[in-house]
Amino acid sequence: MRYVCRFVVLMVALGLCLTTSGLAQESAVDSSEVLSTLEKNHPRLMLMDKDLGHLKILYAKDRVLQKCLRDVLKDADNCAEKPMLTYRKIGPRLLHVSRECLHRIYALGLAYRWTSDEKYAEKAAENLLTVCAFDDWNPSHFLDTAEMSHAVGLGYDWLYSYLGEERREKIRAGLVKNGLKPALSAYEKSWWSKSEHNWNQVCNAGMIIGALAIAESEPQYAERIINSAIKSLPRALKSYGPDGAWMEGPGYWSYATHYTAYGLTALQTALGKDFGLLQIEGLAEAGNFPIYTAGPRGLYLNFADSGEKGSRRPMPCMFWLARTYDNSLYAESEHAEIANHDASAQHVVWYLPPPRQIPQKTLDCYFRGPVEIAVFRSAWNDPEALFVGVKAGYNQVNHGHLDLGNFELDALGIRWVRDLGSDNYNLPGYWDGKRGGRRWEYYRLNSKSHSVPLLNGENQDPLAKSNFTKFETENSSAFVLVDLTSAYEKSASKVTRGVAMIADRRAVLVQDEFEIENPCELVWAMTTDAKIDINEKNTALLTLGGRKLVARLLSPLAAGFEIESARQKPPQKTNKSVRRLIVRLPKAKGVVRVSVLLSPVWKDKEVVTEVPIKPLTQW
Ligand SMILES: [Zn+2]
Repeated sequence: MRYVCRFVVLMVALGLCLTTSGLAQESAVDSSEVLSTLEKNHPRLMLMDKDLGHLKILYAKDRVLQKCLRDVLKDADNCAEKPMLTYRKIGPRLLHVSRECLHRIYALGLAYRWTSDEKYAEKAAENLLTVCAFDDWNPSHFLDTAEMSHAVGLGYDWLYSYLGEERREKIRAGLVKNGLKPALSAYEKSWWSKSEHNWNQVCNAGMIIGALAIAESEPQYAERIINSAIKSLPRALKSYGPDGAWMEGPGYWSYATHYTAYGLTALQTALGKDFGLLQIEGLAEAGNFPIYTAGPRGLYLNFADSGEKGSRRPMPCMFWLARTYDNSLYAESEHAEIANHDASAQHVVWYLPPPRQIPQKTLDCYFRGPVEIAVFRSAWNDPEALFVGVKAGYNQVNHGHLDLGNFELDALGIRWVRDLGSDNYNLPGYWDGKRGGRRWEYYRLNSKSHSVPLLNGENQDPLAKSNFTKFETENSSAFVLVDLTSAYEKSASKVTRGVAMIADRRAVLVQDEFEIENPCELVWAMTTDAKIDINEKNTALLTLGGRKLVARLLSPLAAGFEIESARQKPPQKTNKSVRRLIVRLPKAKGVVRVSVLLSPVWKDKEVVTEVPIKPLTQW
């Protein structure tokens, strides 16, 4: 394993050199030259007519593609019945209107291009003219402007011949006034073009598409926007490095990666190049993240502001990653999704047939980066398998919670230990994430709702950073160690957590070790939906969905379990029927070890009850 790691580090270092120099060369384009390779004809964005032609040939014999088209046409028929969009904000956002417009334009636009039925084109045109007549696209929350520019740019391009010059002129005027013009001032003044998270990809890619759609008519806008976007995008794309994880959690992985796919596809189809952006380290591996962080029933290892109980759902960007990086694992994973759920127009845009050969997956996986993730499982393709995921990294990442060392656990088809997810973005101070910021008063975001230790009842330091210090994987067991010291510096001189899958991958051991100088209250906790019965003080029986899991406190033996409610008062989310299994040491001092064994009651009724306790230094 160590050898493999060293090899990876070497490859990463080499990759970095190649990437940086490749990017510098490619990006050193004369800014007035950026449009010199512009495809003159429409459609030039996302799906060229020649590729549409190839898909139509494939369609004759590809049943999955036939199913995708059925799904898209059904969706387009629905979209054609909907009333026109209206300008209505929710809080500070118009985003739901922009997204609905984007959804309609893809579905109606593809339905028209596939069937040549003008009813789809006409509905799309009406939607485009409606949003182009809006007073603005809410540039103060620029995601809204960018997603609407994407929708309008795509619609203009795909329906170019159908629209006629009079309507084209109106749409161009709306796109310039509400999209491209605000974008130019945003590139000068706003923070997002310098950001390293989802806003970067969404805003840049949305504007790339808007700008390229009308680049021949408005070259002065397109030139400046494309140049600004290709300078800005690497800041966020490097956040995938080195292993493809996304620090904002699985929900934002999807948002950011879809927009990465939109932006880079548009550059390739309209300009015939990617400016070296595809080579940025970590992007080729990004498809591993949703595959490995989805538990046996598809529930993600949930962290940061992800929706509650988020799970793997169809994500057409997996097809884009699969075709761009020739990765059949990504393709196979997405085919499994659309076999059970509706496909979208973007699945057709990036379609590739089911792969003939599927590469093997490892049971365990370690993602490095601004947030570090380790996931372990007992098996693939078994919805009852044991799965545990652990999170480390940096508490200050965008959308982050105070949750270093947090873990989530699935077994027997049940999520036993879970993260509660995001709260309402409109809560006062939700974005005030500095030390002492109001964000950390909210239960779901601070340490008190997470399955992490609490010292003196205090949150982890919002500025803390943690790393995995050891990751080992063998057939029958695997573990990770995480150094949490910087999260608890006020109360402890050292804090380390170990999470291990043990006993032929039938149980999980969570072991925390503390070095504490001045006595403090130490609370070990995990958050669960299960009913908890404490029969003996150091054994708790958890029941959920008719299944059982035994929690056994192996150390310290003198302590015992308690139960706490996770209930909160509105306007926070209330976490009805969520509980916390607690171990409380009122005056912890010196070297303290808390060791908890989590054993599912498997079908054969066998429960792992014993495990030798070793100091983490001997793991
Ligand atoms: Zn959380």
